[in-house]
Amino acid sequence: MKKVPLRKCTGCGEMKEKRELIRVVKAPEKKDENGNVISGGEISLDLTGRKPGRGAYVCKNADCFEKARKARRFERSLSCKIPEDVYEQMSAELENASED
Ligand SMILES: [Zn+2]
Repeated sequence: MKKVPLRKCTGCGEMKEKRELIRVVKAPEKKDENGNVISGGEISLDLTGRKPGRGAYVCKNADCFEKARKARRFERSLSCKIPEDVYEQMSAELENASED
């Protein structure tokens, strides 16, 4: 039997197959030659599973997303602040993605 890698949902804490989850990703920081951060750190939903950066997994449903959002678990696992409008955008995208 083929071993399926499992990831933990940030919302409900259950271990699930990656295809049942969606990734919230923090874009890697880019620095200039003086070491100043010029871009990166943006938080977004990774609907393709191919975005670079640090990620946290959550079930493809609004319940788990909201649970993780309210408990500030994305902030903790990605160690950064996430503005409300970014959450709004991600929850709208998640709704679209979970329809099919
Ligand atoms: Zn979940």
